[in-house]
Amino acid sequence: MQVPLLDLKPQYRALKAEIDAAIERVCDAQAFILGSAVKELEGAVAAYSGCRFGIGMSSGTDALLSALMALDIGPQDAVITTPYTFFATAGTISRVGALPLFVDIDPATFNLTGAAVERFLRNDCERRDGKVLHRRSGRTIKAIMPVHLYGQMVDMDPLMAVAREFQLRVIEDSAQAIGSGDAQGRRACSIGDIGCLSFFPTKNLGAFGDAGMCVTNDPDLAARLAMIRVHGMEPKYYHQLVGGNFRLDELQAAVLVIKLRHLDDWSRARQENACFYFGAFERAGLKEIVTLPAALPGRHIYNQFIIRAPNRDALKAHLGQSGVGTEIYYPVPLHRQQCFANLGHGAGDFPESERAAAENLALPIFPELSREQLQYVVDCIARFYGKA
Ligand SMILES: *Cc1c(COP(=O)(O)O)cnc(C)c1O
Repeated sequence: MQVPLLDLKPQYRALKAEIDAAIERVCDAQAFILGSAVKELEGAVAAYSGCRFGIGMSSGTDALLSALMALDIGPQDAVITTPYTFFATAGTISRVGALPLFVDIDPATFNLTGAAVERFLRNDCERRDGKVLHRRSGRTIKAIMPVHLYGQMVDMDPLMAVAREFQLRVIEDSAQAIGSGDAQGRRACSIGDIGCLSFFPTKNLGAFGDAGMCVTNDPDLAARLAMIRVHGMEPKYYHQLVGGNFRLDELQAAVLVIKLRHLDDWSRARQENACFYFGAFERAGLKEIVTLPAALPGRHIYNQFIIRAPNRDALKAHLGQSGVGTEIYYPVPLHRQQCFANLGHGAGDFPESERAAAENLALPIFPELSREQLQYVVDCIARFYGKA
C-alpha cells in the first residue's frame, strides 16, 4: 500500500470543472491584477476568520512582512516569537531590520504561552521612557508574533493580557491555522492586531501556487496594508510610504474562492482522520510509546498530525520503506539556523524546541485518505516498535 504524506490530485479531480471554469473566466476577461476574484476572496476569508477586512497578499511570507511594515517595526526594534516554526516567521522579522527574540514553546502544544512570554518580559526586559527595552540588545520590543502551529490556536487570552500590559502589538502567524478556533469559538486571526494567512498549496486552503492574506479588524491598518501591497501608492503614482509588490494574483484568487466553499468539509475530514488515529493507536497499544497530539477544547484543523516518536529517524526510514510518506516539521529550530548564528544562541537555549525538533514526525492526515490507509500507517508503526 502507498500512503503519501499529501496528495492534492483527488481534491482537484473533485472540483476540476468548477475550478477550470473559474480560471477560464479570468483568462477571458484578461484582468489579472486585483480584480473581482481578489475582492470576493478578501471578503469571504475575512468573514470566515471573524474579521472585518481582508487584504490579499502574494504569499504568507509577504503577509507577515507587510504586517510588520504596517506596524512600523524596523531597525532598533525587536519582536518576540517562537523558535519552533517555519522560517518565515522569524525571517520576516529580520528582513525589516528588527531582532527576533525567541521564547521557548509549551511541550504539549508546541505553541508559545502567555506565561512564558510574561516571564521573558519580566526577567530580560525593562521599561524606560514608555518603552519596553530588551536589556541585552538595547532594542525596543514592539510586538509579539505567536504561531498557531499545525492548525491549533495559541491560548490567546493570557498572551493578549501580557501584550496589553506591556503595550505590544500582536501579529498572529495563522499560516497553518485558517478556520481553527478556541474554546470560546473565536477564530485564528481575529484576536491580535493583524492575522496572516498562507495559501501555499500544502496548507488547508491551498492555491495553485503562492498566495496569502492579511486580515484585521482595524480600518486604519487595513488601509495601510492595502497601500503597502502596491508600493505604498495612494492615489496612483503618489507614494506615501515605501512598500512592495505584494499583490495576490487574480488567477489564484479565482481558484481559492471555489476551494474556500469546501474548506469546512475538508477540515472535518481531517478531524475525523485524527479521531481514527487516536483510536487506532490505542488499539495497537502504542499510546505508551508515541505521544499523540494534544487537542485542546476548540477547533484543531490538523494542518499536520504530529506524533512524538522515540527513535524518530529510524521510524521515518521504516515508514518510507513501507510506502508511508512522513515529514519532519521542523528538524532545526530557528535559533540553531546558520543564518541566525549572529544572534549568539547555542544548543540548550530552548530545550523544548530542540526536543520537539528531535522527536516530532508528521503523519499523513489529508482529507481524502481512506480508513485502510490510516490503519496501515498505524500497523507499520506498531511493527516498528514490536507491537504487531
Ligand atoms: C507556510 C508558512 C509561512 C509562509 O507562508 P508562504 O505562503 O509559504 O510564504 C509562514 N509561517 C508559517 C508558520 C508557515 O507554516
